[in-house]
Amino acid sequence: MGNTAVVVGGGIGGLAAAIGLHRIGWEVTVLERTSTLEDTGAGISLAANGLRALDELGVGGAVRDAARGQYSGGTRTPRGRWLTRLDGSALEKAVGTPIMGIPRATLHRLLREALPAGSQVTGSEVATVGQADPGTVQVVHSTTALEADLVVAADGIGSGVRSRLFPAHPGPVHSSSTVLRGITEHAVDLRTDFELTWGRGAEFGHIAFLDGRAEWHAVLSLPAGTRFADPLAELRRRFHTWHDPIPALLDTTRPEAVLHHDVRELRTPLPSYTVGRIVLLGDAAHAMTPHLGQGACQALEDAVTLAAVLGTEPTVEEALARYDAERRPRSQAVAQAARQAGRMGQRLSHPVAVTLRNTAMRLTPSRVATRMILRHHAWYRRRCERHSPAADRAYACWSASAQEVGW
Ligand SMILES: Cc1cc2nc3c(=O)[nH]c(=O)nc-3n(C[C@H](O)[C@H](O)[C@H](O)COP(=O)(O)OP(=O)(O)OC[C@H]3O[C@@H](n4cnc5c(N)ncnc54)[C@H](O)[C@@H]3O)c2cc1C
Repeated sequence: MGNTAVVVGGGIGGLAAAIGLHRIGWEVTVLERTSTLEDTGAGISLAANGLRALDELGVGGAVRDAARGQYSGGTRTPRGRWLTRLDGSALEKAVGTPIMGIPRATLHRLLREALPAGSQVTGSEVATVGQADPGTVQVVHSTTALEADLVVAADGIGSGVRSRLFPAHPGPVHSSSTVLRGITEHAVDLRTDFELTWGRGAEFGHIAFLDGRAEWHAVLSLPAGTRFADPLAELRRRFHTWHDPIPALLDTTRPEAVLHHDVRELRTPLPSYTVGRIVLLGDAAHAMTPHLGQGACQALEDAVTLAAVLGTEPTVEEALARYDAERRPRSQAVAQAARQAGRMGQRLSHPVAVTLRNTAMRLTPSRVATRMILRHHAWYRRRCERHSPAADRAYACWSASAQEVGW
């Protein structure tokens, strides 16, 4: 098996894939089209599966040290009534960790620092990727062509590699929602680590960071392309009657810190995550709506699985077949669950439906809610290592029990 790889895209998925490949002894080059390798998104929550994957990549400790455990919080109505309370300690007891909140820029920096110097090339847009001689792939970027044994397409939801490999696929679609996000300028006095508040056609949430600042997001049901002249003023207008600390979070954010994106997803599942020696990973393979906070966690699972199968299978072809067989059903099921969660959340606007949902949520015991969350957070931890019969046996055993519980 050859051992050179080119990763297209230096987002969370691409960097994680590069770390995994580097850990099993591959020579990796990450090509990123932007001139700086920085994720400018606001914050991110990492569930147990994402954190386990980061552990396997050797950066879990550093990420946990820089993140804040989301122990207290839950879902509320705009007037502040609690619909569910989630107990981070119960999650910790069940899967070893609460959900952790971290600024994206910090996570991105920690991933970049785990790669060898010179392996990341910025300002380098990949134009084409195609099979070269049997067993190699050619990547044309900027003015240069590179040959490698494997290409990892981690070029995000708008993946050019995906659209070239699957020209008949409809690509990403708008999810009828738009999201505005920001990070407070300084620490805020919060009584909970995280909250999600559902109104009719609108959602507001926050995640607290280790340094006392918080990330907030507002999701609105609006047509694609809707933009506001002054986004922060628009949010203050829409959310000023909502419960504390929502107005305070907006008041402690600078207008230029507000990001606004339409929420898109890959609604038509791909028939395969691999074509020849090209493998799709992260949002390029399974961009999902953010309603379960699982997009990056799934990209991290992809990255660890890819390294694990390349480290254990005898050929690249067999490894990629196994990657596809493991990752496609899992990530596509999570994407579908995220879409359904969106329908039950901010997108619900009929008053009767909202009342019914709220009543059902209030009556759901917290241990049942915790179990529903754990369904997506539970993930067998693959090992990024060269061939290991023990890991194979453990995987076979996990696979059988996962089927039993209906994953
Ligand atoms: C509002 C919101 C909140 C979210 N919250 C969470 C959360 O709490 N938890 C969670 O797990 N997930 C969350 N997600 C999902 C998560 O952000 C994504 O799933 C994840 O960032 C995808 O990473 P990626 O590396 O696959 O893609 P991206 O981050 O999109 O990275 C792709 C990279 O490829 C580069 N690129 C593209 N084309 C080329 C090219 N031709 N040549 C070179 N480079 C190229 C891009 O510049 C980019 O840097 C959220 C998403 C949204 C929208």
